[in-house]
Amino acid sequence: MKVVLEHLTKRFPNRNKKQGGFVTAVSDVNLELPDGKLVGLLGPSGCGKSTMLNMICGLEDATEGKIYFDQEDVTNIPPEKRGVGMVFQNYALYPHLTVRQNIIFPLQNLKGDAKLSKEEMNAKAEEVAKLVQIEEYMERKPSELSGGQQQRVAIARSLVKMPRVLLLDEPLSNLDARLRLQTREEIKRIQVKTGITTIFVTHDQEEAMSITDVMVVMKDGVIHQVGKPQEIYDNPINLFVAKFLGTPAINVFDGEVKNGKLYIGEDCIKDIKGISEQKVYVGIRPEGFLINDAGTFHCRLKGVEVMGRDVNVVFTNPNHDGYCRAIIHNDYAGSANKKDICFDLKDNKILIFSKENEKRLYEEE
Ligand code: ATP
Repeated sequence: MKVVLEHLTKRFPNRNKKQGGFVTAVSDVNLELPDGKLVGLLGPSGCGKSTMLNMICGLEDATEGKIYFDQEDVTNIPPEKRGVGMVFQNYALYPHLTVRQNIIFPLQNLKGDAKLSKEEMNAKAEEVAKLVQIEEYMERKPSELSGGQQQRVAIARSLVKMPRVLLLDEPLSNLDARLRLQTREEIKRIQVKTGITTIFVTHDQEEAMSITDVMVVMKDGVIHQVGKPQEIYDNPINLFVAKFLGTPAINVFDGEVKNGKLYIGEDCIKDIKGISEQKVYVGIRPEGFLINDAGTFHCRLKGVEVMGRDVNVVFTNPNHDGYCRAIIHNDYAGSANKKDICFDLKDNKILIFSKENEKRLYEEE
């Protein structure tokens, strides 16, 4: 099922009565989410992700715009008739019901032709329980399960009616680090197995990068970029997207294009074609640095963080506020008394942005 958003806008009355007016949570969003894919809705807190999800499932009315599931206009259809499954951060299971009863719950209100017998409901519950691998716990109460298991029950409950679209709002936030990792793989596996178009809201870029087919990056109710995770990481269209993706974060330096070359301070970084002379931001990904005593980029070594397979070399540069980080293979020994460090830079890891509007500036091929 393809999900299409046309000029979708949501304005709330301002919670601050003194200020009055409206807060625009989602602003004129046009988006086509492909059939059968896992889509990540990613952005910082307050960017409008949950509001967008709530409009897709029908819990919030759109102020303006349309929502289509394939050709069908669902904008004014109530949530229970849209055929969506929803999973929230706080599993929202009924504590007094068993796992089986929780999963069966959405099937009990089916009417007319859709009405199921007890045996049919049980069979469906067992089918989805198997899919999310909780079939051993069917007679337990939610309090007798771990957080990860409870979240799987919530997913099973949302799948039991075989929704047309599955919506997940920060489903991993209440889990510890190890369970988050495990459960996100689970979500990916379940999505691939069912083929249901799934929209996954998160503020965690690593989570979105690791499992989604398509990523939608938002800020202040506006979509900044849509694409495959790796493509967006390699080719962010503006400084916000570049900074939002990647750990450690991209290092951003004050730089300048002059005489056909890119400078950071006195250091000439590379030749430039097709960008006019101007002051710019230069973003360099942590994996873009190669230590070389004769390298062109001069910095001050501050320390080395051991990460296992790699190390983070921490350094400063007068054209960057605070610490910069480079990811270097762990055979780097460093030198306690040597404070100057020089780098060569990988060309495809250097991204240039306008100081005026923070948009990416592209060189001529
Ligand atoms: P988070 O990750 O913190 O949940 P989010 O990206 O999901 O954030 P939303 O919850 O969609 O963001 O909120 C978007 C904006 O709309 C915020 O500025 C928020 O304060 C505002 N907002 C959300 N719901 C309401 C409401 N019912 N009334 C007024 N303003 C609201």
